[in-house]
Amino acid sequence: MDGDSFFASCEIALNRNLEGRPVWVGGGRRGDGIVIAANRTAKKFGVTTGMACFEAARICPRGVLCRPHYTEYRDISQKMFRVLEQYSPTLVPVSIDEGFLDFSTMDQTVWRNTTSADYVKQICQRIKNEVGIPVSAGLASSSRLAKLATDAAKPGFIEISIGEEKEFLKDRSVRELSGLGKNRQRALAALGAMTFGHVANLPSHLLRKKFGIWGQQLWLFANGRWSEPLLLEVKDRTTISSNTTLPYDEPDYEAALTFTLSEATRLAGQLRREQLQTREISLTIRFNDFSETGGSHRFQHPQFQNSLINTALEGIFRDSMGGQFRPVRQIRIAMWNLARLDTQPTLWGRTYAERWGALDDAAHKLQEQLKKTPLMTGAQLALQHLDGVHKNPKAKCPFVPQREMVKKLWGTDADPLAHKGEWEKRLAKVSKQHQHQH
Ligand SMILES: [Mg+2]
Repeated sequence: MDGDSFFASCEIALNRNLEGRPVWVGGGRRGDGIVIAANRTAKKFGVTTGMACFEAARICPRGVLCRPHYTEYRDISQKMFRVLEQYSPTLVPVSIDEGFLDFSTMDQTVWRNTTSADYVKQICQRIKNEVGIPVSAGLASSSRLAKLATDAAKPGFIEISIGEEKEFLKDRSVRELSGLGKNRQRALAALGAMTFGHVANLPSHLLRKKFGIWGQQLWLFANGRWSEPLLLEVKDRTTISSNTTLPYDEPDYEAALTFTLSEATRLAGQLRREQLQTREISLTIRFNDFSETGGSHRFQHPQFQNSLINTALEGIFRDSMGGQFRPVRQIRIAMWNLARLDTQPTLWGRTYAERWGALDDAAHKLQEQLKKTPLMTGAQLALQHLDGVHKNPKAKCPFVPQREMVKKLWGTDADPLAHKGEWEKRLAKVSKQHQHQH
């Protein structure tokens, strides 16, 4: 299941007067940079994602530019997933508006009065009615194929019945496969394989020789013989990180530090909620010209306390920012080399970790009840104060600015996670440089 032009649809759901009109959502620091989502009506006029908003207004003067409302998008996304989770015990969300449902694990009695296709249509209808956003869907024998089907269906629904997989894939380009890197794509092209049909006609041992297991799987997939159970990945976490583009390029380094500490506090809370503690932390600061600085710190023992983590981060911040003058655009904090945090009660009274855990739980409960942040650390309070002074719009979003950044950095609109490895490498390089200097 995948929301159609999700952000634009959300805007329409939030304001019914927009229905039927060309609508796009602007990204960037003021919400009028580039188009980050456009509805179908706008697309008919030629408005596309990534286009400058002024250009969109030029080719579609009657269209409506909406500034992003990320908090509301997240609420709508949550509502959508609340509906989805009622339809299968196996739901794997992959992004704010996209997720997989596995029907194969469900009790056979479900299918007594309905077919899986009708079941999917019912889900789409319910989301349309109750959440107010259109979703597309694809039904197929594997999640990979379901994703291709959804993309092909947009907007709407396609079912690829068992046995029809090969026919569906025959003329489709291998580029449609998500996660297919440029190198593999080139290597496939060198074998004359542009479509899945071409791949299916290649000898499987050749693909296996060239690409290993992946090649074998691709061959099976192209031949409609690939099936895989949808698995929830419950791997142990190896990092906790956040990567935030500030609402505007921040020339005030103290304000950037305040934001860093406030964000670190949030991450430390998440760390403890997942019963973890961290041995290493790093901070990367990117400037408005995309140059960056930063460093890392290794604790002697794993840590979970705000105060210690923040002190270390502040040290890195001050060390790295000396002599810098450019405004700050993006701040990335990562905690890794994680260890279990034992919050089990002991016979000798409440441990420090246990008391912190109780504090986190209480804060979390209050937050749920009051729907805002009743408890703040000093850094968070200072940040709120600064925000009031600067009167900046809250434009913090974990999804889009990062994508925009990725697009600027890598020249593609690909999933930021696809570049995670390279991110980590850069991070390592930056921290090595930093260690070298000292
Ligand atoms: Mg979508």
